[in-house]
Amino acid sequence: MNKHLLPSFIFLLLFSFSSFAQTNKKLALGTVGSVLTDINNQHAKTSSVYALKLQTGDVMDINIENYYNENGNLSMNGKAQESPNSLFILKGNLSSLYGYLVLHDSKTAFEITTSDDLVSIEEIDIAKIYPDVYEKPMTPPVENNSLTRGNPVYSPMAQRQAVHIGKYNNEDVTKLQSRPGSEYVFYLNHSAVMNGTTPKNGRTKEEMFRVWQCTADQYSMFNLNVTTDPAVYAAAKANSVLKTGNIKFVDEDGRSNACVACFGTTAAGTLYRNPGNGDYGYGIGMTCAHEMGHQMGMSHDGGSAQTDPEYFFGLPAVEWCPIMGNYWKGGSWPNQLFTWSKGEYNTATQKQDDLKIMNVNENVPYMVDDIPTTKAIKFSNTGGISPLDNWGQIAQNTDADAFTFEVGPGGGTINLKIDPIEYLRQLDVAAKIVNSQGTAVSSSNLAKHRSAEFKNVALTAGSYSLVIQGGSELTPQTGFSNYSSLGYYAMEGTLTGAVTATGEILSGASISIFPNPSNGDFTFNGLKGENTIEVYDFVGKLIYEEKTSQTSIGVNLKEERQGIYVYKIINAATKEISAGKLIVQ
Ligand SMILES: [Zn+2]
Repeated sequence: MNKHLLPSFIFLLLFSFSSFAQTNKKLALGTVGSVLTDINNQHAKTSSVYALKLQTGDVMDINIENYYNENGNLSMNGKAQESPNSLFILKGNLSSLYGYLVLHDSKTAFEITTSDDLVSIEEIDIAKIYPDVYEKPMTPPVENNSLTRGNPVYSPMAQRQAVHIGKYNNEDVTKLQSRPGSEYVFYLNHSAVMNGTTPKNGRTKEEMFRVWQCTADQYSMFNLNVTTDPAVYAAAKANSVLKTGNIKFVDEDGRSNACVACFGTTAAGTLYRNPGNGDYGYGIGMTCAHEMGHQMGMSHDGGSAQTDPEYFFGLPAVEWCPIMGNYWKGGSWPNQLFTWSKGEYNTATQKQDDLKIMNVNENVPYMVDDIPTTKAIKFSNTGGISPLDNWGQIAQNTDADAFTFEVGPGGGTINLKIDPIEYLRQLDVAAKIVNSQGTAVSSSNLAKHRSAEFKNVALTAGSYSLVIQGGSELTPQTGFSNYSSLGYYAMEGTLTGAVTATGEILSGASISIFPNPSNGDFTFNGLKGENTIEVYDFVGKLIYEEKTSQTSIGVNLKEERQGIYVYKIINAATKEISAGKLIVQ
């Protein structure tokens, strides 16, 4: 190299380095591969200590508490030797590493990030890693003392459709699992506030159940097992610590907090036992879901127009607030809805895509769509629609569940309510009834109310779909979109005039038809008095009509094409109409 050019070459190098780093405080540790090799080499020499280079020129020895390094997947965490009141984590894979060192005593923090395969370390604001310790506290709604805290009310339709749904039913609260069998596990370690299977401090098992339930609710779109069982956590951690996280309950009052993005390591968030009054189960449950959100990588959803912008107070007009905002402020809303957010509301202080962070950054998989095509509504013998038979999950905001049903030639009337059935729910139900032409004949998404309801909706004969989706209210800027309108729902009601898939009718049940399907020969039994029997084809054209006073009669459709036909039996005396399907094969 030409000596004359050297100084300017160095200048250019320095210039490009500092412009990449934004500040001169950043130190490049090397490529991802070289950093992983260094970690491997150090670990081979001594498995308990890792020497971390800081951009200050210091080297910090870390006492390692967790070390997992397999197939290029790394998870390690520990504490600085010289500062026990500290936390170090480093995790990632062959394409990216992320971590930090937090020294609480000196209130300093160093973040390790990867950009274009280059791993760097730089000093950052400690509040970025522990937002709930170093920012102003989230406060309960003291200025609204006249308002009473309103905890959610269980939907009467919530009846254990999934293990985390419905009221406490005397389960062992040290063995709760929301997704038994999933390799992704988040452990609520409440051993410090338990005596065996009994909670300390006068708390009830039901409250401990609800803490777990609220947390399971907020993460139910993911195939993630929220558990209180240490054995389940230990097994998952042994398989891959990168798929696990944990939070520790503390038997003291204090400010709950968690380390940002420490999911995938054994570093734990901290859950203090307050609030001392109000509903411990719900209050601590919301806090647990929020702190776990930090551990998944989320910072606060703030409000730039507030005096204290740190935690967004939510939108009273639609009774919605992001769970990473101030969930105490919405405590008095009767239909409070706390969800994940991507900062769509006006005054949002950041645009983190919470669901993407969990799904892409932390690799936590969504639940598999439970109704990928359509599903027939299941009726009881009397035409009732039961929430134990008819429920589902909106796991992603692109999901729509379609329940099909048929209305016979006499027409019908539907009365149906669809509830979100999780306790700390995120789902705002939007529902519509769509006819066979694809036209919505009725739709419902009640404002500030999370259910959908159809009251005395008259339906003419034909095939319908009840389509259920996550709803939105107002605009994404003034209300909320369907971004995180996710969760479980169930439905309850009645439909008169419905025809089930086998052709049985739901009223006038004394009449039977066999065989059905048939080659065109049908026998109607159980007729009473004088009746007119009519049969219609699929376009509603009358193809058969007969008056009879017999209790049993044969109907011959052998000349007709294969397909589905609708019969109608009109009783001359009572004018009662029975209807159903005939299938010619
Ligand atoms: Zn927080």
